[in-house]
Amino acid sequence: MKKRLFFIALLLAILVTEHAFCRGKSQNKDSPRNAGRERAEYSLAGREQGSSEPESEKIENEALMPAAALEKTEMDRAEQVMKALAKAYPDRLGPAEIRNGDWAVPIRGDWYYYADGKLLPEELREKARDYDGQPFYNYPAELPAWKAPEPEEEERFRGMAERRRRNPSRRSQHFFDALWRAHNKEEAWERIKSIRFLGHTVMVHYAILEELALVEERILSESKTNSRIRAWIASLSTLDGWNWRGIADTQSRSFHAYGAALDILPKNYGRSNTYWLWTAQSTPEWWTVPYEKRLHPPDEVVKAFEAYGFIWGGKWLFYDTMHFEFRPEILILNEILLTDMR
Ligand SMILES: [Zn+2]
Repeated sequence: MKKRLFFIALLLAILVTEHAFCRGKSQNKDSPRNAGRERAEYSLAGREQGSSEPESEKIENEALMPAAALEKTEMDRAEQVMKALAKAYPDRLGPAEIRNGDWAVPIRGDWYYYADGKLLPEELREKARDYDGQPFYNYPAELPAWKAPEPEEEERFRGMAERRRRNPSRRSQHFFDALWRAHNKEEAWERIKSIRFLGHTVMVHYAILEELALVEERILSESKTNSRIRAWIASLSTLDGWNWRGIADTQSRSFHAYGAALDILPKNYGRSNTYWLWTAQSTPEWWTVPYEKRLHPPDEVVKAFEAYGFIWGGKWLFYDTMHFEFRPEILILNEILLTDMR
């Protein structure tokens, strides 16, 4: 009951503050940029904010603003998520179907269930309560216009950071370990290839080589007529891909552990306004740093990554603006991704 009241309060807060995302999203739908794009068939409505998950489960990668959608049932949400996953990884997942009362997808013959957003194998379905949900968060097509947080929002952000510290998220790794075929460091290492990307060496999972080549091709092509992109490429110092580790301050595995995430850092970037945890060392109110004071690759670069299935950590509330991660399912669920990435 307490949780239900919390979400109702949250919903009211969103309605009252008229979050900029709503405006950005509706503008985007009509924008020329989207003309000719085939719309993804999955709606943003019904994402997990309306579910009974504790707040601590979704603060990790919560996007800039929570979606308000209490009207969809959990089964609808399960269908959306599992179909988005099947569509996002067509070479690795079979089609989603209802199985034993829940939506599920197969990975090489093993079935994984939605399980209240936990993505669990058959044998762990009964232990769903032991895990936090996977973050299928709201991800805006465009960064909303910067608006300093209201005092109530600041209070909420402070509370989220505090809960994150006190109660680190614990997600089941089974689904993504199986998806990337990387259950431990040795197995992950076997999947890693070293490539050149924009003139720098980086180690990534073999399954995203083609996507990264296409991202690079698009960035280089646009750089011919865009001096900001040329300057950004020239400013790059290091690219960090594969790194067997968890997400800082959590018990959850980072997508760097699979080689499915990439940190792109320019020279002389200054640590302070790149990653919220670093910012917090000097500015406890890390959320007050406006977008223009955060490291920000050119928008065209962000869009090039998004066009081939990568999300940008600069759109997370807990920002990580050097970070790109292969999560086509997030882009599909938010109606951003082209149906056919290639
Ligand atoms: Zn990263």
